[in-house]
Amino acid sequence: MNDRSKKQVVVVGAGITGLAAAWELSKSGQVHVTVIDKDDRVGGKISSNDMDLDAGPDGFIARGAPAIELCNELGLSEDLVSPKSSGAFILTQHKLRKLPGGLFMGIPSNLRSIALSKIISYKGLVRAALDLLRPATSIGDDISVYDFIASRLGVEICENLVEPLLGGIHAGNAHQLSMKEVAPFILNNYKRSLIMDLSKIRSKAPSPPGPAFTTVKGGLYNLPLSLYRALVSKNNVTFMLGTQALRAKGLTLTLDNSQTVQFDSLLLATPAWATKNFVNADIAARLNSISYASVGVVSFEIPRIDLPEATGFLVPPREGYLITAATWLSNKWPYFDNSKTYLRASIGKIDNTHWQELSDSHLIDQAYMQLRQATLSLGVELPVSPRQACVTRWVDALPQYNVGHRKLIEAISPSQGVFLAGAYLNGVGVPACIESGREAARTILDTLDLTPTLRQGDCGRSSFNNS
Ligand SMILES: Cc1cc2nc3c(=O)[nH]c(=O)nc-3n(C[C@H](O)[C@H](O)[C@H](O)COP(=O)(O)OP(=O)(O)OC[C@H]3O[C@@H](n4cnc5c(N)ncnc54)[C@H](O)[C@@H]3O)c2cc1C
Repeated sequence: MNDRSKKQVVVVGAGITGLAAAWELSKSGQVHVTVIDKDDRVGGKISSNDMDLDAGPDGFIARGAPAIELCNELGLSEDLVSPKSSGAFILTQHKLRKLPGGLFMGIPSNLRSIALSKIISYKGLVRAALDLLRPATSIGDDISVYDFIASRLGVEICENLVEPLLGGIHAGNAHQLSMKEVAPFILNNYKRSLIMDLSKIRSKAPSPPGPAFTTVKGGLYNLPLSLYRALVSKNNVTFMLGTQALRAKGLTLTLDNSQTVQFDSLLLATPAWATKNFVNADIAARLNSISYASVGVVSFEIPRIDLPEATGFLVPPREGYLITAATWLSNKWPYFDNSKTYLRASIGKIDNTHWQELSDSHLIDQAYMQLRQATLSLGVELPVSPRQACVTRWVDALPQYNVGHRKLIEAISPSQGVFLAGAYLNGVGVPACIESGREAARTILDTLDLTPTLRQGDCGRSSFNNS
């Protein structure tokens, strides 16, 4: 029941950002939170498909403190699992080759291991070595991944290693992605030679022990589900699922069922292209200029087969494949039933949209054929056809952190009472989204004048004890 004596906070979007914000807000006990989502389920991109597999993200970086903290608060710490294999392959001239160690987001800190991997030609290696001699690259206000990496290490390293890795995470184009946004750590430490800088960083601060990724047992989709269950058990949170928010005027939000909702604070935890409908024309124009990549995920079940030790493989664009990456799910996560093998293929990038016109059956056939073809180069033969397959299409899903993104974001300041959070602000990964939601919630709690809500009859103490 909505306690009208409390300040009303409305959160639009029940993806991980909105749910994390609702969690933070509800813990204060001082506000009533209404979470609205146009879908009839929570989780947004974190969701399952008809095969009960993750249809969106399947894990997050284990060093992503905000996500780990949230899992601990939800009592999920025992359910966090690490990948059971490590390493990945990359497709080079139709053959899978193991990605060498010492890569930092695809950027090598050691040319010897790159030479041994045979991913880069002799000419490409000689060009990369010139990084040690060339004068420093001028960064200016910002620089694209392509301009920076190609100027240091040459086009081949950029296109065959960095683009598939960095571009794969963002489904972006290295010519447009901002080096400052997608690899700030590298740029902040950059002096002259990139290889020397990276090897210095590695020797000073070797990678922390333990696996780099983690997930929730059974699938990452269990995270928003647990969060939802924890939130609905609170008496200061209401969900309105299957309801689209249309516009906001003053302190009133209009919904697609002609209802209106009054708020003291409105948090828009929606993609930039949806958020623009609730803000003034100037902010809307800025939000509109953030482009989004559409991607597809094709999941497969096949009879059990032993795959080499790795989590999957990457496909550089120049290989001409439909798929951009493959995850060998049952090799990667330990919670799968050993009698079957699950695989998934990723499709689509910001500059590759033709797949969207293809039917699901075409995507399934082509993606499976390419998975089979690539795996065959390791001497492993997948069955002729999968037992089960399904396609998830994520339209306008991944915000592009292109050159100049920070300036664009910094210029956005919504009107009083309206707050923004989400994957287009401070990072696309699950931990960054959680932090964005919780940070916005804390700002809302700081901004609201909460003292007057403790009216006669309110029990201040118990209302703080909801968490
Ligand atoms: C295929 C794929 C794989 C990924 N893999 C990884 C990974 O392995 N690791 C990782 O860390 N990250 C990964 N990501 C990124 C990560 O999943 C997302 O950035 C993150 O989940 C976004 O969360 P969000 O809550 O900000 O947005 P969303 O999940 O998009 O949630 C926004 C919500 O707002 C709702 N909404 C929109 N408009 C309205 C409206 N007008 N009214 C009501 N509701 C509305 C939507 O229905 C949606 O539920 C991946 C993303 C994709 C697509």
